[in-house]
Amino acid sequence: MQAEDMEFAGQWSAEALRLMQENAIPPIPDNYAVWFRYASGRLPELNKEIDEKIATAQPVDLELTQDLQRRYFSDEKLTDVTLQTGNKLNSEVDQILRIIEETVGNSTALGASVREASEGLSSQSTPGDVLKAVEAIVTASRKMEERSAELEEHLQATKRELNELQDNLEKAHSEARTDGLTGINNRKAFDEAIEREMAAARKSGEPLCLVVGDIDHFKKFNDTFGHRTGDQVLRLVASCLKNGAAEGHIAARYGGEEFAVIMPKTDLATAEAIANKIRETVKARELVKRSTGESLGRVTMSMGISLFRPEDAASSLIERADQCLYQAKHAGRNRVIAEDAGAAMPKALAG
Ligand code: GH3
Ligand code: MG
Ligand code: MG
Repeated sequence: MQAEDMEFAGQWSAEALRLMQENAIPPIPDNYAVWFRYASGRLPELNKEIDEKIATAQPVDLELTQDLQRRYFSDEKLTDVTLQTGNKLNSEVDQILRIIEETVGNSTALGASVREASEGLSSQSTPGDVLKAVEAIVTASRKMEERSAELEEHLQATKRELNELQDNLEKAHSEARTDGLTGINNRKAFDEAIEREMAAARKSGEPLCLVVGDIDHFKKFNDTFGHRTGDQVLRLVASCLKNGAAEGHIAARYGGEEFAVIMPKTDLATAEAIANKIRETVKARELVKRSTGESLGRVTMSMGISLFRPEDAASSLIERADQCLYQAKHAGRNRVIAEDAGAAMPKALAG
């Protein structure tokens, strides 16, 4: 649970439980996920589906809840596509095998036609006989050609279809890792990337830094200008992070108004310089309400940075960056604090 959601979470939670009770839906975690999201209104498509059921007096029950849970909150969305791909692939392969079988069958038939036609020929044969034999062979081979052309065409169609399936899979994979609000990597993508990059750093021995950032006094901003305007700020901050990060860096929305940048092949000093640049960019942007042109002032960010140690788990690396972030908040916000590089030395070497 993100700290920033706490103030609404209580209301959403109560509302979710009330709705579940009203509709006799057992309050287990999977069901709760659906109704909590519904109460939060953060997933408009989900709400639309439920609201339509209510509006048309259709049952809003456990079955619907489970269906929504499966479609919106589990990885089965991806699994479905994978299964579909598998099935389609199987049927394509079946079809190709059948055509090949038929073609090979015909090719044997061609051999037989040639044999049959030539057997009837001898030195006594008339040109008419030879012509007939040749015609028989031509007919047989033309049939064979037609079959090959058909096979070729089918193979081309299959190739197109496979490409399309591949694209769909890639799209689903990337959607599952993208934050809906800001369009940058989501938490799932972050979790995968941090593991991947830690393993790479362990192998290569190159430095790896983790920057975590949190918007300063964002609650106040939301309270003053509204949640929707707050959402615009989240988009702005996300784009500053994405554009400010170097190539190969991974910017992600870690939670509500918390962001992270994984910086492979980057030492603490460089990470700190990049983070400070991003912080400056965010601070420099004057926010203007699109509809009215009203100035909303500026927002700032605080950030903490940790440097990977070979014995780190993702949790310890994140924890140290969080501690630095906490210090940055306490030191007055709008600043970047990196962990003490000395502390990153192996214990045996440290003072
Ligand atoms: P601090 O400087 O200590 O970080 O102060 P803060 O107000 O930012 O701290 P806190 O974490 O208590 O508040 C975060 C706020 O972020 C609370 C919540 O309203 C807001 N928030 C979280 N997620 C979202 C979101 O998706 N959209 C919007 N608009 N606001 C969000
Ligand atoms: Mg926060
Ligand atoms: Mg904050």
